[in-house]
Amino acid sequence: MHHRVQNFLNSVNLGTGLRRQPADQSTAPRSPPRGEWDNGPRKIRRGAGLETSRIAVKGIEFGGPGFVVIAGPCAVEGAEQMELAASAVRRAGALMLRGGAFKPRTSPYAFQGMGEPGIRILSEAGRRHGLPVIAEVMDASQIPGMLERVDVLQVGARNMQNFSLLRALARLRRPVLLKRGFCSTVREWFLAAEYLLDGGNEQVILCERGIRTFETALRNTLDLSAVAYAKLHNRLPVIVDPSHATGNRDLVIPMSLAAAACGADGLLLEVHPDPDRALCDGPQALAPDEFQTLMEKLPKVLESVGRFLGAPSLSRASV
Ligand code: PEP
Ligand code: MN
Repeated sequence: MHHRVQNFLNSVNLGTGLRRQPADQSTAPRSPPRGEWDNGPRKIRRGAGLETSRIAVKGIEFGGPGFVVIAGPCAVEGAEQMELAASAVRRAGALMLRGGAFKPRTSPYAFQGMGEPGIRILSEAGRRHGLPVIAEVMDASQIPGMLERVDVLQVGARNMQNFSLLRALARLRRPVLLKRGFCSTVREWFLAAEYLLDGGNEQVILCERGIRTFETALRNTLDLSAVAYAKLHNRLPVIVDPSHATGNRDLVIPMSLAAAACGADGLLLEVHPDPDRALCDGPQALAPDEFQTLMEKLPKVLESVGRFLGAPSLSRASV
């Protein structure tokens, strides 16, 4: 009896997950390599002596010596607004056009974005002005409709740890802009990027957009030290969004210059043809003339850190 019980115990999984077997069998759990017990970021790490990975979007390069400015309204509101926004930001030297069609709003009663028609308006404005476009994807079901028209898919701060969305984006071969969650640590941000790389999508750009702290004078606290830290340890390009970080257009120019000085690879800025009438985030939107002023100030700061303001590529210069 005793032997039969022992044999039985040897042959079954006891329900605790502990199957009795010699440790040298190939099915025995392998110890992770030393130093990786913490499941920390691996694939986004910068190899010794290696430069930032360069990510190309229709001839525009993120992570190279050129600094990339992306600008446009918080939300697509209509064809005329996007035409005015695109022509203004293109004239001032922006390389890409932004505009949200699926908007993650705190209140269900606030403007939620135009949805698919907004994506069409954004892409047409971008095409007319030779600007690749970026828009936020809130849900994996929106991906097919966006792939045809959107050059960079943005994961918003509120979705940074939406792991099923990250896994769906990881299967694509399309650049993703991953915003830092406003309550996320730097490590959580890096691990969210790791989901994309681990799933096979290497085209990831990080974006610092401010975090929530005890400070209440501003919408968020712009964590530029996290930008310098990310650049030091990772190989992914990092851009900064001073619009959501400050919530105040008067602070967007100084924080943009600070971002350029601390080693960011570019900016994501809200610019609206008529900020006082914006349906979303008007107080933090620059008017076209303010955006022009910023673009004139950037080259000097960039020069001091060995960078330059990215210029439209030759093929688009005639547009
Ligand atoms: C945005 O860029 O449109 C946006 C909603 O930003 P965030 O996700 O950083 O709040
Ligand atoms: Mn916004």
